[in-house]
Amino acid sequence: MSRASNFPPPFSPRDYVAEPTDPADERIEVGVLIVGAGPAGLACAIRLGQLLEDHPDVAERLGDVPVAVLEKGKQPGSPLLSGAVVNPRALHRLFGDRLRIDDLPSFGPVPGESVYVLTRRAALPIPPPPPMRNHGNWIFSLSQLGRFLGERAEEGGAMILPETSAQKLLVSHGRVLGVRTGDKGRGREGGELGNFEAGSDLVAKVTVLAEGTQGHLTGVALDRFGLRGEDPQVWELGVKEVWKVAKPLDRIIHTMGWPLRPGRKYREFGGSFIYPMGKDMVTIGLVVGLDYRDASLSVHDLLQELKTHPKIRKILAGGERVEWGAKTIPSGGFHSLPRRLHAPGLLLCGDGAGMVNIPRLKGVHYAIESGRLAAEAAFRALQRGETPASALSSYDDAVRASFIWDDLYEVRNMRQVFGRGFFVGGALASAMTMSKGRVELGKMPAEPDADQPLLVTDRDKSYPAPDGALTFDKLSSVFASGNKTRDDQPNHIRLERRVPRDVAQLWAHMCPAQVYEVGPEEGDGTVKVDVAPSNCVQCGAITAKGGRLTPPEGGSGPEYTLT
Ligand SMILES: Cc1cc2nc3c(=O)[nH]c(=O)nc-3n(C[C@H](O)[C@H](O)[C@H](O)COP(=O)(O)OP(=O)(O)OC[C@H]3O[C@@H](n4cnc5c(N)ncnc54)[C@H](O)[C@@H]3O)c2cc1C
Ligand code: SF4
Repeated sequence: MSRASNFPPPFSPRDYVAEPTDPADERIEVGVLIVGAGPAGLACAIRLGQLLEDHPDVAERLGDVPVAVLEKGKQPGSPLLSGAVVNPRALHRLFGDRLRIDDLPSFGPVPGESVYVLTRRAALPIPPPPPMRNHGNWIFSLSQLGRFLGERAEEGGAMILPETSAQKLLVSHGRVLGVRTGDKGRGREGGELGNFEAGSDLVAKVTVLAEGTQGHLTGVALDRFGLRGEDPQVWELGVKEVWKVAKPLDRIIHTMGWPLRPGRKYREFGGSFIYPMGKDMVTIGLVVGLDYRDASLSVHDLLQELKTHPKIRKILAGGERVEWGAKTIPSGGFHSLPRRLHAPGLLLCGDGAGMVNIPRLKGVHYAIESGRLAAEAAFRALQRGETPASALSSYDDAVRASFIWDDLYEVRNMRQVFGRGFFVGGALASAMTMSKGRVELGKMPAEPDADQPLLVTDRDKSYPAPDGALTFDKLSSVFASGNKTRDDQPNHIRLERRVPRDVAQLWAHMCPAQVYEVGPEEGDGTVKVDVAPSNCVQCGAITAKGGRLTPPEGGSGPEYTLT
């Protein structure tokens, strides 16, 4: 039995830590540099704008650009994908009386909810278990919310630099000084094309990494500063579609069970979400833990299969798919949080730090709250005119005193219990939730997703054939993500190219964007993995399962508008 982790990618975090190389007078200097225009990074920029407005003396000390936000996507929102049923708590705290929740671009409060356990043909309604209760939460498109938050951040004085990826962490004498951005306009083999633009050193008094799931520099920083948590991080892969529908959906729906298999040997954990987006749209997604073992499992194709269920087919009847996307979600929870959320000159926020409550499928309000708290910690340090290591430790204290910490502690073993199979895991998870985390299950072992021994079944033979109306193949899905990655740019995926067949199959089936193909036998029992990096939608699954995603050229990737 192979394990993907036995075939590590040619990647060393050390290659992505550097001293500044631009001459001092050519470096771009900003006050606070935020990497990532997701809810965490934008909340950080908005809160800094509010604080600096009230303290113009501090703003003046921070120079011409007090706050800058780097975003690798075309614009804030383009790479964002979520459910999204959002707990509005953190938005209220961020905007206070400056904005009301119904001033934000949403699809209104959750109108009602149902939970079903599915079999191939039937749907058994069950009362929503406590983690799935969503009364008081609001429905959003995260890519739309991202664009809105981006505009508010700019109004507050932040400079947003889209199409710019942060490639290297600039560190000097043990202190983070900023980042080096990626080059643009290189060809497939790395040569400079006519439109070549070299990256730049961006230096800042404080750097906030808010890169979201599988954050490239966040991973580099965790290794460089020894911040990795007690348990390894693990992930789920979510694949979702947005549909225009003929009939409005009057509630949110979650499902468990089929098309996942309950047997313990498969380690298939997950479920689906179906949320109304106003009167004429619905989003449907499937989330599956990446510690699964079957190399023939494809979340993309399981979602296609899910849509053939009579209950779900009815919701989509007469409709049309208008967008598709995929992304991972960190799911290790409390025990996988970094030991510290700061290092000299550096703060870590949101999904990058693993702040997700997986049984509730919620991360947006933790991202926003952590971004707000990071802004306040950075501001406190800057107000005193210095950023020694201890000045930023107030961020850790603030996160530990916040609802982020309490909520994640309550469900601390939730992800691990499902390694014991669907039914035992479900019972233990319910016990934890009902007791608000007071039931002590002891510390459960956690293994990296890529360490799971593989098995190969014929699961892929039963995926439905794409009909282009209800069910789709991976390439038409990539098209529906608006992916704009240049065909001839350098490969941004680090991967061992000669591996046993089952590992190659795992990657080929897992990738929702058909980036990998199982190539020819190499004569030594291995096969070659062929890679088409321009299909990649940067979901991050490959990093969980034995490879490494690095940020591609700025401006590449999906251009989501509704996800
Ligand atoms: C399928 C799915 C369903 C979900 N459903 C829900 C839900 O219903 N409710 C809920 O609350 N949460 C949900 N979540 C979780 C939620 O979406 C995340 O917790 C949240 O988006 C995290 O915000 P973030 O700002 O930390 O990261 P992100 O939203 O991932 O944003 C990070 C940003 O940083 C940019 N970036 C990353 N690296 C770089 C770099 N090196 N250089 C420049 N830019 C960079 C990215 O392009 C991106 O724009 C769901 C997630 C998924 C995948
Ligand atoms: S190549 Fe990797 S990161 Fe890109 S879409 Fe496929 S699995 Fe996701």
